[in-house]
Amino acid sequence: MADFSRPPGTMDVLPEKSGVWQWVEAKAREVFDLYHYREMRTPIFEHTEIFERGVGDTTDIVQKEMYTFTDRGGRSLTLRPEGTAGVVRAFVEGKLYGGTLPGKYYYLGPMFRYEKKQAGRYRQFNQYGIEVIGSDDPRADAEVIELADHFLKELGIRHYRLELNSVGCPTCRSDHKKLLLEHLTPIKNELCTDCQSRFEKNPLRILDCKIDGHHPQVLTAPKITDHLCEDCSTHFDAVKGHLNALGVAYVITPTMVRGLDYYTRTAFEFIGTELGAQSTIIGGGRYNGLISMLGGPDLPGVGFAGGLERLLLTVDEAREQELAADRLDAFVIAMGDAAMDFSVKVLQLLRKNGIRADMDYAGRAFKAQLKLADRYHAKVALIIGDDEVEKQSVTLRDTTSKEQQLVSIEELITALQK
Ligand SMILES: [Zn+2]
Ligand SMILES: [Zn+2]
Repeated sequence: MADFSRPPGTMDVLPEKSGVWQWVEAKAREVFDLYHYREMRTPIFEHTEIFERGVGDTTDIVQKEMYTFTDRGGRSLTLRPEGTAGVVRAFVEGKLYGGTLPGKYYYLGPMFRYEKKQAGRYRQFNQYGIEVIGSDDPRADAEVIELADHFLKELGIRHYRLELNSVGCPTCRSDHKKLLLEHLTPIKNELCTDCQSRFEKNPLRILDCKIDGHHPQVLTAPKITDHLCEDCSTHFDAVKGHLNALGVAYVITPTMVRGLDYYTRTAFEFIGTELGAQSTIIGGGRYNGLISMLGGPDLPGVGFAGGLERLLLTVDEAREQELAADRLDAFVIAMGDAAMDFSVKVLQLLRKNGIRADMDYAGRAFKAQLKLADRYHAKVALIIGDDEVEKQSVTLRDTTSKEQQLVSIEELITALQK
């Protein structure tokens, strides 16, 4: 049997839902533009090694979740599982490092991960994100975080908290790692198999392990924020200082870690608290090693990413209904052959003047056409019969007051704009 259903983990956005999508996307573009971020559109697929390198070949994303295929030319390609690697690749390939720095970019679009089936998880999902490439200035970190805060407020989202941390740099991390290993070695055998296997390689991850994170010995582990080198410490203090000055509230969360070496210093997450279960709305931070890893110069970067689906859940019902409504300014109703011919020209006139209008194409009777005008919430119905054609006029009917008046074609647009 042929399967004509959509693949698991995908969705159709039908017209009554697309209004909300467009609204959220337009808000994102508006806020990004306000902060002088410019759009970067990269391919939906890249050479697989871009993600093996850029996302990290030890991550779950790369090991278990990528849509990788061989194309007809024998290349290994992968549908993008996230946005940053492609943006950095395009930055390097387009030699944008030779232009004015920092470069400030945003992206918006579908990403692909073969996730386990669960409610609210999609295998094609949509992410937006921003990247600042070429600045180490703590004010850039603060801008990225304040932009995220501004964006969430613009969408009317109020119930969230900002968790902030510094994950240091390779220098301070190696000192901290030694202390951490000393502290955790006595309980190594009590840890989950994942943590035991990454014990030497990445003990930081034990701190945010869902199984071991609450172990008393893990809770008292040395904090990276107490062992930052002088440069990282100064940078972190400056970021916090700017956020305080901007009135952006945050909580320091020393257990927030990043799995990969190229993440440095600032790490942050906006956690939504309005939907019962808490979950990350936006996550971001610094990635000072990524650009050179993808073949570019040694430039620092900072940014964030978030999922659009998660934001849509928070749009309130009144707004959603408003955005779902199918609305017209005018609906043209024609009765008789001459009127039908005339209606085509009237409709063109309306649209040329920016009036959102439509008419019946299904041969409905007069009353049924009037009903259609109501269904589309048209402010006016423009009725055309033989009389109107003769006088080169239309009967303008206010659908609320039901008042009618005959208006000549020459005066129609002026009458409607009132
Ligand atoms: Zn450091
Ligand atoms: Zn564990």
